[in-house]
Amino acid sequence: MIEPLARPDQSVVIVGAGLAGLRAAEAVREAGFPGRVVLVGEEAHEPYDRPPLSKAVLQEEGHERGIALSPEGALAGLGVELRLGRRAVAIDRKAREVELADGERIAYDRLVLATGSRVRALDILPPGAAGVHYLRGLDDALALRAALKTGGRLAVVGGGVIGMEVAASARALGCECVVIEAGPRLMARAAAPAVSTFLHKRHLAEGVDVRLGVTVAAAEPSASPGAWRLRLSSGETIEAQAVVVGVGVSPNIDLARDCGLEVRPEGVVVDGFGATSDPAVYAAGEVALHLNDLYGRHDRQETWAHAAAHGQHVGEALVSPTQAYRQPPSYWSDQYDINLQVTGLATGDTDVVRGDPALGRFLVFHLAGGRIEGVSAVNAVRELRTAKRLIGACPADLEALADPARELKIEA
Ligand SMILES: Cc1cc2nc3c(=O)[nH]c(=O)nc-3n(C[C@H](O)[C@H](O)[C@H](O)COP(=O)(O)OP(=O)(O)OC[C@H]3O[C@@H](n4cnc5c(N)ncnc54)[C@H](O)[C@@H]3O)c2cc1C
Repeated sequence: MIEPLARPDQSVVIVGAGLAGLRAAEAVREAGFPGRVVLVGEEAHEPYDRPPLSKAVLQEEGHERGIALSPEGALAGLGVELRLGRRAVAIDRKAREVELADGERIAYDRLVLATGSRVRALDILPPGAAGVHYLRGLDDALALRAALKTGGRLAVVGGGVIGMEVAASARALGCECVVIEAGPRLMARAAAPAVSTFLHKRHLAEGVDVRLGVTVAAAEPSASPGAWRLRLSSGETIEAQAVVVGVGVSPNIDLARDCGLEVRPEGVVVDGFGATSDPAVYAAGEVALHLNDLYGRHDRQETWAHAAAHGQHVGEALVSPTQAYRQPPSYWSDQYDINLQVTGLATGDTDVVRGDPALGRFLVFHLAGGRIEGVSAVNAVRELRTAKRLIGACPADLEALADPARELKIEA
Protein backbone atom coordinates (compact mmCIF):
# COMPACT_ATOMS: atom_id res chain seq x y z
CA MET A 1 0.00 0.00 0.00
CA ILE A 2 1.18 3.50 -0.83
CA GLU A 3 2.11 5.91 1.96
CA PRO A 4 -0.89 7.80 3.37
CA LEU A 5 -1.29 11.49 2.51
CA ALA A 6 -0.12 13.90 5.19
CA ARG A 7 1.73 16.93 3.79
CA PRO A 8 0.40 20.36 2.81
CA ASP A 9 2.27 20.24 -0.51
CA GLN A 10 0.34 17.13 -1.63
CA SER A 11 -2.89 17.13 -3.60
CA VAL A 12 -5.94 14.95 -4.10
CA VAL A 13 -8.01 15.25 -7.25
CA ILE A 14 -11.47 13.69 -7.26
CA VAL A 15 -13.21 13.19 -10.60
CA GLY A 16 -16.98 13.05 -10.25
CA ALA A 17 -18.86 15.51 -8.04
CA GLY A 18 -21.67 13.12 -7.10
CA LEU A 19 -22.36 11.61 -3.70
CA ALA A 20 -19.26 9.38 -3.56
CA GLY A 21 -16.93 12.13 -4.79
CA LEU A 22 -18.35 14.62 -2.31
CA ARG A 23 -18.10 12.21 0.62
CA ALA A 24 -14.51 11.38 -0.35
CA ALA A 25 -13.60 15.09 -0.40
CA GLU A 26 -15.23 15.69 2.99
CA ALA A 27 -13.59 12.61 4.52
CA VAL A 28 -10.12 13.55 3.31
CA ARG A 29 -10.49 16.84 5.15
CA GLU A 30 -12.11 15.32 8.22
CA ALA A 31 -9.17 12.91 8.43
CA GLY A 32 -6.92 15.96 8.69
CA PHE A 33 -5.33 16.21 5.23
CA PRO A 34 -3.84 19.71 5.00
CA GLY A 35 -3.05 19.79 1.24
CA ARG A 36 -5.01 20.64 -1.88
CA VAL A 37 -8.34 18.96 -2.65
CA VAL A 38 -9.94 19.47 -6.08
CA LEU A 39 -13.39 18.10 -6.96
CA VAL A 40 -14.09 17.98 -10.71
CA GLY A 41 -17.62 17.45 -11.99
CA GLU A 42 -18.95 17.52 -15.52
CA GLU A 43 -22.44 18.58 -14.43
CA ALA A 44 -22.90 22.30 -13.88
CA HIS A 45 -24.69 21.73 -10.55
CA GLU A 46 -23.14 21.52 -7.11
CA PRO A 47 -23.31 17.96 -5.73
CA TYR A 48 -26.95 16.98 -5.32
CA ASP A 49 -29.02 14.01 -4.27
CA ARG A 50 -30.31 11.72 -7.02
CA PRO A 51 -33.04 9.71 -5.19
CA PRO A 52 -35.56 12.61 -5.27
CA LEU A 53 -35.20 12.84 -9.07
CA SER A 54 -37.62 9.98 -9.69
CA LYS A 55 -39.89 10.96 -6.79
CA ALA A 56 -40.45 14.45 -5.31
CA VAL A 57 -38.62 16.39 -8.05
CA LEU A 58 -40.93 14.89 -10.69
CA GLN A 59 -44.01 15.50 -8.60
CA GLU A 60 -43.36 18.90 -7.14
CA GLU A 61 -42.24 22.08 -8.86
CA GLY A 62 -39.33 23.65 -6.99
CA HIS A 63 -38.35 20.57 -4.99
CA GLU A 64 -35.02 20.58 -6.79
CA ARG A 65 -34.01 23.65 -4.81
CA GLY A 66 -33.72 21.50 -1.68
CA ILE A 67 -31.60 18.60 -2.92
CA ALA A 68 -28.07 19.94 -2.48
CA LEU A 69 -25.88 17.41 -0.69
CA SER A 70 -23.80 20.02 1.01
CA PRO A 71 -24.96 23.30 2.59
CA GLU A 72 -24.03 26.43 0.63
CA GLY A 73 -20.44 27.42 1.25
CA ALA A 74 -19.57 24.23 3.16
CA LEU A 75 -17.16 22.93 0.53
CA ALA A 76 -15.41 26.26 0.30
CA GLY A 77 -15.22 26.20 4.09
CA LEU A 78 -13.45 22.86 3.87
CA GLY A 79 -11.04 24.29 1.35
CA VAL A 80 -12.29 22.03 -1.46
CA GLU A 81 -11.79 23.58 -4.91
CA LEU A 82 -14.80 22.87 -7.09
CA ARG A 83 -14.46 22.61 -10.88
CA LEU A 84 -18.02 22.28 -12.09
CA GLY A 85 -19.17 21.91 -15.67
CA ARG A 86 -15.74 20.48 -16.43
CA ARG A 87 -15.19 17.01 -17.82
CA ALA A 88 -12.03 15.01 -17.18
CA VAL A 89 -10.96 13.45 -20.46
CA ALA A 90 -7.65 11.73 -19.75
CA ILE A 91 -5.30 10.60 -17.02
CA ASP A 92 -1.55 10.73 -17.42
CA ARG A 93 -0.44 8.26 -14.77
CA LYS A 94 3.26 8.82 -15.39
CA ALA A 95 3.04 12.59 -14.91
CA ARG A 96 0.25 12.15 -12.32
CA GLU A 97 -2.02 14.63 -14.06
CA VAL A 98 -5.68 14.73 -15.00
CA GLU A 99 -6.60 16.49 -18.20
CA LEU A 100 -9.91 18.34 -18.50
CA ALA A 101 -11.82 18.86 -21.74
CA ASP A 102 -10.73 22.51 -21.91
CA GLY A 103 -7.08 21.46 -21.80
CA GLU A 104 -6.36 22.27 -18.15
CA ARG A 105 -4.09 19.71 -16.50
CA ILE A 106 -4.34 19.20 -12.73
CA ALA A 107 -1.51 17.47 -10.91
CA TYR A 108 -2.30 14.91 -8.24
CA ASP A 109 -0.57 12.81 -5.63
CA ARG A 110 -3.73 10.73 -5.32
CA LEU A 111 -6.59 10.56 -7.76
CA VAL A 112 -10.07 9.32 -6.90
CA LEU A 113 -12.39 8.25 -9.70
CA ALA A 114 -15.97 8.73 -8.55
CA THR A 115 -17.52 8.89 -12.00
CA GLY A 116 -20.63 6.86 -11.21
CA SER A 117 -22.70 5.36 -14.01
CA ARG A 118 -24.55 6.37 -17.12
CA VAL A 119 -27.83 5.07 -18.41
CA ARG A 120 -27.93 2.19 -20.82
CA ALA A 121 -29.55 3.40 -24.01
CA LEU A 122 -31.79 1.61 -26.49
CA ASP A 123 -30.94 2.22 -30.16
CA ILE A 124 -34.59 2.34 -31.13
CA LEU A 125 -35.33 5.02 -28.51
CA PRO A 126 -32.23 7.18 -28.66
CA PRO A 127 -31.42 9.68 -25.90
CA GLY A 128 -32.09 13.19 -27.11
CA ALA A 129 -34.94 12.24 -29.47
CA ALA A 130 -38.04 14.35 -28.87
CA GLY A 131 -40.30 12.68 -26.31
CA VAL A 132 -37.68 10.11 -25.23
CA HIS A 133 -36.46 10.43 -21.64
CA TYR A 134 -33.70 8.75 -19.69
CA LEU A 135 -33.29 9.60 -16.01
CA ARG A 136 -29.93 10.02 -14.35
CA GLY A 137 -29.35 13.69 -13.65
CA LEU A 138 -31.25 16.76 -12.52
CA ASP A 139 -31.58 18.11 -16.05
CA ASP A 140 -33.17 14.81 -17.14
CA ALA A 141 -35.66 15.02 -14.25
CA LEU A 142 -36.66 18.61 -15.09
CA ALA A 143 -37.21 17.71 -18.75
CA LEU A 144 -39.31 14.69 -17.76
CA ARG A 145 -41.35 16.75 -15.28
CA ALA A 146 -42.14 19.25 -18.03
CA ALA A 147 -43.30 16.40 -20.28
CA LEU A 148 -45.46 14.86 -17.52
CA LYS A 149 -47.13 18.20 -16.93
CA THR A 150 -48.59 18.13 -20.40
CA GLY A 151 -50.45 14.93 -19.43
CA GLY A 152 -51.37 12.10 -21.75
CA ARG A 153 -49.96 8.60 -21.64
CA LEU A 154 -46.44 7.81 -20.52
CA ALA A 155 -44.77 4.58 -21.59
CA VAL A 156 -42.10 3.35 -19.19
CA VAL A 157 -39.72 0.86 -20.76
CA GLY A 158 -38.19 -1.22 -17.97
CA GLY A 159 -39.94 -2.28 -14.76
CA GLY A 160 -36.93 -1.83 -12.48
CA VAL A 161 -36.71 0.43 -9.44
CA ILE A 162 -36.35 3.69 -11.37
CA GLY A 163 -39.07 2.75 -13.88
CA MET A 164 -41.56 1.91 -11.13
CA GLU A 165 -40.78 5.06 -9.17
CA VAL A 166 -41.36 7.08 -12.33
CA ALA A 167 -44.63 5.21 -12.92
CA ALA A 168 -45.81 6.10 -9.39
CA SER A 169 -44.85 9.75 -9.94
CA ALA A 170 -46.61 9.83 -13.30
CA ARG A 171 -49.81 8.52 -11.70
CA ALA A 172 -49.51 11.07 -8.89
CA LEU A 173 -49.51 13.73 -11.64
CA GLY A 174 -52.56 12.19 -13.27
CA CYS A 175 -50.81 10.76 -16.34
CA GLU A 176 -51.85 7.45 -17.80
CA CYS A 177 -48.97 5.04 -17.56
CA VAL A 178 -47.99 1.78 -19.17
CA VAL A 179 -44.94 -0.19 -18.04
CA ILE A 180 -43.24 -2.55 -20.47
CA GLU A 181 -41.00 -5.09 -18.75
CA ALA A 182 -39.13 -7.90 -20.49
CA GLY A 183 -38.85 -10.13 -17.42
CA PRO A 184 -41.53 -12.17 -15.69
CA ARG A 185 -41.86 -9.82 -12.71
CA LEU A 186 -41.23 -6.23 -11.65
CA MET A 187 -37.95 -5.16 -9.99
CA ALA A 188 -36.61 -8.69 -10.35
CA ARG A 189 -32.99 -7.68 -9.80
CA ALA A 190 -33.68 -5.62 -6.69
CA ALA A 191 -36.56 -7.29 -4.91
CA ALA A 192 -37.78 -10.70 -3.77
CA PRO A 193 -40.83 -12.21 -5.51
CA ALA A 194 -43.14 -11.39 -2.56
CA VAL A 195 -42.12 -7.73 -2.77
CA SER A 196 -42.51 -7.66 -6.57
CA THR A 197 -45.99 -9.15 -6.28
CA PHE A 198 -47.01 -6.64 -3.62
CA LEU A 199 -45.76 -3.67 -5.66
CA HIS A 200 -47.28 -5.04 -8.87
CA LYS A 201 -50.73 -5.25 -7.25
CA ARG A 202 -50.45 -1.73 -5.94
CA HIS A 203 -49.41 -0.32 -9.32
CA LEU A 204 -52.40 -2.08 -10.90
CA ALA A 205 -54.67 -0.64 -8.20
CA GLU A 206 -53.27 2.81 -8.97
CA GLY A 207 -54.17 2.33 -12.63
CA VAL A 208 -50.77 1.50 -14.11
CA ASP A 209 -50.99 -0.82 -17.09
CA VAL A 210 -48.20 -3.36 -16.44
CA ARG A 211 -47.05 -5.57 -19.33
CA LEU A 212 -44.64 -8.33 -18.32
CA GLY A 213 -42.62 -10.61 -20.60
CA VAL A 214 -42.67 -8.20 -23.53
CA THR A 215 -40.10 -5.95 -25.17
CA VAL A 216 -40.30 -3.01 -27.52
CA ALA A 217 -39.67 -4.54 -30.94
CA ALA A 218 -39.91 -1.27 -32.88
CA ALA A 219 -40.53 2.38 -32.16
CA GLU A 220 -41.49 5.24 -34.43
CA PRO A 221 -42.43 8.86 -33.79
CA SER A 222 -46.16 9.55 -34.15
CA ALA A 223 -47.72 12.50 -35.90
CA SER A 224 -47.94 14.70 -32.78
CA PRO A 225 -44.54 16.09 -31.68
CA GLY A 226 -42.76 14.00 -29.03
CA ALA A 227 -45.31 11.17 -29.21
CA TRP A 228 -44.28 7.62 -30.06
CA ARG A 229 -45.83 4.47 -31.40
CA LEU A 230 -44.25 1.40 -29.80
CA ARG A 231 -44.69 -2.05 -31.30
CA LEU A 232 -44.31 -4.70 -28.63
CA SER A 233 -42.89 -8.21 -29.10
CA SER A 234 -46.44 -9.45 -28.42
CA GLY A 235 -47.57 -7.70 -31.62
CA GLU A 236 -49.55 -5.01 -29.78
CA THR A 237 -49.03 -1.33 -30.47
CA ILE A 238 -48.91 1.34 -27.80
CA GLU A 239 -49.24 5.05 -28.41
CA ALA A 240 -47.60 7.31 -25.86
CA GLN A 241 -47.12 11.06 -25.53
CA ALA A 242 -43.73 10.44 -23.93
CA VAL A 243 -41.44 7.48 -23.26
CA VAL A 244 -39.11 6.91 -20.31
CA VAL A 245 -36.43 4.28 -20.74
CA GLY A 246 -35.14 2.74 -17.52
CA VAL A 247 -33.20 -0.35 -18.53
CA GLY A 248 -30.24 -0.04 -16.22
CA VAL A 249 -26.89 1.70 -16.11
CA SER A 250 -23.26 0.96 -16.88
CA PRO A 251 -20.31 2.25 -14.87
CA ASN A 252 -18.26 5.12 -16.31
CA ILE A 253 -15.03 3.15 -16.61
CA ASP A 254 -13.63 4.84 -19.74
CA LEU A 255 -11.10 7.11 -18.02
CA ALA A 256 -9.73 4.19 -16.00
CA ARG A 257 -9.66 1.81 -18.95
CA ASP A 258 -7.99 4.32 -21.28
CA CYS A 259 -5.08 4.88 -18.88
CA GLY A 260 -4.51 1.15 -18.45
CA LEU A 261 -6.03 0.51 -15.03
CA GLU A 262 -7.60 -2.86 -14.34
CA VAL A 263 -11.26 -2.64 -15.25
CA ARG A 264 -14.04 -5.09 -15.98
CA PRO A 265 -17.36 -4.32 -17.62
CA GLU A 266 -18.79 -4.31 -14.08
CA GLY A 267 -16.50 -1.52 -12.87
CA VAL A 268 -13.05 -0.30 -11.93
CA VAL A 269 -11.42 -3.01 -9.85
CA VAL A 270 -10.37 -1.78 -6.39
CA ASP A 271 -9.18 -3.40 -3.18
CA GLY A 272 -10.75 -3.06 0.27
CA PHE A 273 -9.34 0.48 0.58
CA GLY A 274 -10.46 1.67 -2.84
CA ALA A 275 -7.03 1.44 -4.51
CA THR A 276 -6.97 0.49 -8.19
CA SER A 277 -4.16 -1.43 -9.90
CA ASP A 278 -2.19 1.86 -9.65
CA PRO A 279 -1.65 2.60 -5.93
CA ALA A 280 -1.91 6.37 -6.57
CA VAL A 281 -5.37 6.04 -8.16
CA TYR A 282 -8.51 5.10 -6.25
CA ALA A 283 -12.13 4.57 -7.26
CA ALA A 284 -15.21 5.11 -5.11
CA GLY A 285 -18.96 4.65 -5.25
CA GLU A 286 -20.99 3.26 -8.08
CA VAL A 287 -18.10 3.06 -10.55
CA ALA A 288 -16.02 0.82 -8.30
CA LEU A 289 -16.00 -2.95 -8.45
CA HIS A 290 -14.92 -2.99 -4.84
CA LEU A 291 -13.76 -5.64 -2.45
CA ASN A 292 -16.29 -5.95 0.36
CA ASP A 293 -14.48 -7.55 3.27
CA LEU A 294 -17.79 -8.61 4.78
CA TYR A 295 -18.25 -11.16 2.00
CA GLY A 296 -14.65 -11.53 0.81
CA ARG A 297 -15.61 -10.80 -2.78
CA HIS A 298 -15.84 -7.98 -5.29
CA ASP A 299 -19.14 -6.28 -5.85
CA ARG A 300 -20.61 -3.17 -7.44
CA GLN A 301 -23.58 -1.43 -5.88
CA GLU A 302 -25.99 1.05 -7.41
CA THR A 303 -27.29 2.46 -4.16
CA TRP A 304 -27.16 5.70 -2.23
CA ALA A 305 -25.97 4.08 1.01
CA HIS A 306 -23.04 2.43 -0.71
CA ALA A 307 -21.98 5.57 -2.62
CA ALA A 308 -22.00 7.54 0.63
CA ALA A 309 -20.23 4.91 2.74
CA HIS A 310 -17.68 3.91 0.12
CA GLY A 311 -16.87 7.51 -0.82
CA GLN A 312 -16.26 8.28 2.83
CA HIS A 313 -14.24 5.10 3.36
CA VAL A 314 -11.99 5.82 0.38
CA GLY A 315 -11.48 9.44 1.48
CA GLU A 316 -10.41 8.24 4.93
CA ALA A 317 -8.23 5.51 3.45
CA LEU A 318 -6.15 8.11 1.58
CA VAL A 319 -5.13 9.69 4.87
CA SER A 320 -5.48 7.02 7.49
CA PRO A 321 -6.28 3.54 6.20
CA THR A 322 -7.42 1.36 9.05
CA GLN A 323 -9.96 -1.30 8.07
CA ALA A 324 -10.96 -2.70 4.72
CA TYR A 325 -14.47 -1.80 3.52
CA ARG A 326 -17.16 -3.88 5.22
CA GLN A 327 -20.76 -2.94 4.52
CA PRO A 328 -23.88 -4.95 3.78
CA PRO A 329 -25.67 -3.59 0.71
CA SER A 330 -28.83 -1.61 1.37
CA TYR A 331 -31.26 0.56 -0.52
CA TRP A 332 -34.71 2.01 -0.29
CA SER A 333 -37.45 2.86 -2.75
CA ASP A 334 -40.55 5.01 -2.38
CA GLN A 335 -43.59 4.38 -4.58
CA TYR A 336 -46.93 6.01 -3.67
CA ASP A 337 -47.05 5.77 0.14
CA ILE A 338 -45.01 2.58 0.11
CA ASN A 339 -41.55 2.63 1.60
CA LEU A 340 -39.35 -0.35 0.80
CA GLN A 341 -36.07 -0.83 2.64
CA VAL A 342 -33.70 -3.66 1.86
CA THR A 343 -30.62 -4.61 3.86
CA GLY A 344 -28.24 -7.37 2.81
CA LEU A 345 -29.29 -9.67 -0.02
CA ALA A 346 -32.59 -8.67 -1.65
CA THR A 347 -33.60 -12.25 -2.34
CA GLY A 348 -32.52 -15.68 -1.13
CA ASP A 349 -32.91 -19.35 -2.01
CA THR A 350 -35.69 -19.25 0.59
CA ASP A 351 -37.73 -16.17 1.38
CA VAL A 352 -39.80 -16.09 4.56
CA VAL A 353 -42.60 -13.54 4.62
CA ARG A 354 -43.48 -12.23 8.08
CA GLY A 355 -46.81 -10.44 8.21
CA ASP A 356 -49.60 -10.20 5.69
CA PRO A 357 -48.79 -8.27 2.50
CA ALA A 358 -52.52 -7.64 2.10
CA LEU A 359 -52.29 -5.39 5.16
CA GLY A 360 -49.65 -3.32 3.43
CA ARG A 361 -46.91 -3.89 5.99
CA PHE A 362 -44.54 -6.86 6.16
CA LEU A 363 -40.99 -8.15 6.30
CA VAL A 364 -39.30 -10.72 4.09
CA PHE A 365 -36.28 -12.61 5.39
CA HIS A 366 -33.92 -13.81 2.67
CA LEU A 367 -32.13 -17.04 3.54
CA ALA A 368 -29.29 -18.65 1.65
CA GLY A 369 -28.17 -22.10 2.78
CA GLY A 370 -30.27 -21.74 5.94
CA ARG A 371 -28.65 -18.43 6.98
CA ILE A 372 -30.44 -15.08 6.99
CA GLU A 373 -28.55 -12.98 4.44
CA GLY A 374 -30.94 -10.08 4.05
CA VAL A 375 -34.25 -8.51 5.01
CA SER A 376 -36.77 -6.47 3.04
CA ALA A 377 -39.18 -4.25 4.93
CA VAL A 378 -42.33 -2.88 3.35
CA ASN A 379 -43.68 0.03 5.39
CA ALA A 380 -41.97 -1.55 8.41
CA VAL A 381 -38.94 0.56 9.27
CA ARG A 382 -39.31 -0.02 13.00
CA GLU A 383 -39.49 -3.80 12.63
CA LEU A 384 -36.51 -3.68 10.29
CA ARG A 385 -34.32 -2.36 13.10
CA THR A 386 -34.81 -5.59 15.06
CA ALA A 387 -34.90 -7.81 11.99
CA LYS A 388 -31.52 -6.55 10.77
CA ARG A 389 -29.88 -7.97 13.87
CA LEU A 390 -30.88 -11.44 12.71
CA ILE A 391 -28.71 -11.22 9.61
CA GLY A 392 -26.14 -14.01 9.90
CA ALA A 393 -28.39 -16.18 12.10
CA CYS A 394 -29.55 -19.66 11.05
CA PRO A 395 -33.12 -19.92 12.31
CA ALA A 396 -34.28 -23.46 13.00
CA ASP A 397 -37.97 -22.54 13.21
CA LEU A 398 -39.09 -20.79 10.01
CA GLU A 399 -42.71 -20.82 11.14
CA ALA A 400 -41.81 -18.70 14.16
CA LEU A 401 -39.90 -16.35 11.89
CA ALA A 402 -42.96 -15.96 9.69
CA ASP A 403 -45.38 -15.33 12.55
CA PRO A 404 -45.67 -11.64 13.49
CA ALA A 405 -47.30 -12.62 16.78
CA ARG A 406 -44.07 -14.25 17.89
CA GLU A 407 -41.08 -12.26 19.02
CA LEU A 408 -38.10 -11.96 16.69
CA LYS A 409 -35.31 -13.62 18.62
CA ILE A 410 -31.66 -14.14 17.90
CA GLU A 411 -31.06 -17.81 18.50
CA ALA A 412 -27.86 -18.96 20.16
C1 LIG B 1 -33.26 8.82 -10.44
C2 LIG B 1 -32.49 8.06 -9.39
C3 LIG B 1 -33.13 7.67 -8.22
C4 LIG B 1 -32.44 6.94 -7.25
N1 LIG B 1 -33.11 6.55 -6.12
C5 LIG B 1 -32.44 5.83 -5.19
C6 LIG B 1 -33.11 5.40 -4.02
O1 LIG B 1 -34.30 5.68 -3.79
N2 LIG B 1 -32.43 4.67 -3.12
C7 LIG B 1 -31.11 4.33 -3.29
O2 LIG B 1 -30.52 3.65 -2.44
N3 LIG B 1 -30.44 4.75 -4.40
C8 LIG B 1 -31.07 5.48 -5.34
N4 LIG B 1 -30.41 5.89 -6.48
C9 LIG B 1 -29.00 5.50 -6.66
C10 LIG B 1 -28.01 6.50 -6.04
O3 LIG B 1 -28.46 7.81 -6.18
C11 LIG B 1 -26.66 6.31 -6.73
O4 LIG B 1 -26.23 4.98 -6.46
C12 LIG B 1 -25.62 7.29 -6.28
O5 LIG B 1 -26.00 8.59 -6.67
C13 LIG B 1 -24.27 6.95 -6.90
O6 LIG B 1 -23.35 7.94 -6.50
P1 LIG B 1 -21.93 8.10 -7.21
O7 LIG B 1 -21.36 9.36 -6.64
O8 LIG B 1 -21.16 6.85 -7.11
O9 LIG B 1 -22.23 8.32 -8.76
P2 LIG B 1 -23.08 9.45 -9.47
O10 LIG B 1 -24.18 9.93 -8.62
O11 LIG B 1 -23.40 8.91 -10.83
O12 LIG B 1 -22.03 10.66 -9.63
C14 LIG B 1 -20.98 10.61 -10.54
C15 LIG B 1 -20.72 12.01 -11.06
O13 LIG B 1 -19.52 11.98 -11.83
C16 LIG B 1 -19.68 12.78 -12.97
N5 LIG B 1 -18.71 12.36 -13.97
C17 LIG B 1 -18.68 11.21 -14.67
N6 LIG B 1 -17.63 11.18 -15.53
C18 LIG B 1 -16.98 12.35 -15.35
C19 LIG B 1 -15.80 12.92 -15.94
N7 LIG B 1 -15.12 12.26 -16.87
N8 LIG B 1 -15.41 14.14 -15.55
C20 LIG B 1 -16.10 14.81 -14.58
N9 LIG B 1 -17.21 14.33 -13.98
C21 LIG B 1 -17.63 13.10 -14.37
C22 LIG B 1 -21.13 12.53 -13.35
O14 LIG B 1 -21.61 13.57 -14.18
C23 LIG B 1 -21.81 12.52 -11.98
O15 LIG B 1 -22.20 13.80 -11.61
C24 LIG B 1 -31.08 6.62 -7.46
C25 LIG B 1 -30.43 7.01 -8.64
C26 LIG B 1 -31.13 7.72 -9.60
C27 LIG B 1 -30.44 8.13 -10.87
